[in-house]
Amino acid sequence: MPVSARRLRKQNRTGLESQLIIVCPECGEGFSIVSEVPCSDTALAESRGAWLLQQFIWDHIQESKHRGSIRLPSADELKPRQIR
Ligand SMILES: [Zn+2]
Repeated sequence: MPVSARRLRKQNRTGLESQLIIVCPECGEGFSIVSEVPCSDTALAESRGAWLLQQFIWDHIQESKHRGSIRLPSADELKPRQIR
């Protein structure tokens, strides 16, 4: 099942402590990561957060707006491809 990040309205940011919220360092836009199951995999959640931050930075480099809803990669897609 796809997992996505949704844009948060500024006034909705309080009371969402249980959700993982990623804030763009460039413009301060906040996105919450919506998961189909309560995420017990912290490593995966952190990887997704890092991936999302890169998307934000890339959006600013390309001068494109952040989408309201961003599909996040699966655990498989996040696996590093190169051998360590
Ligand atoms: Zn931004």
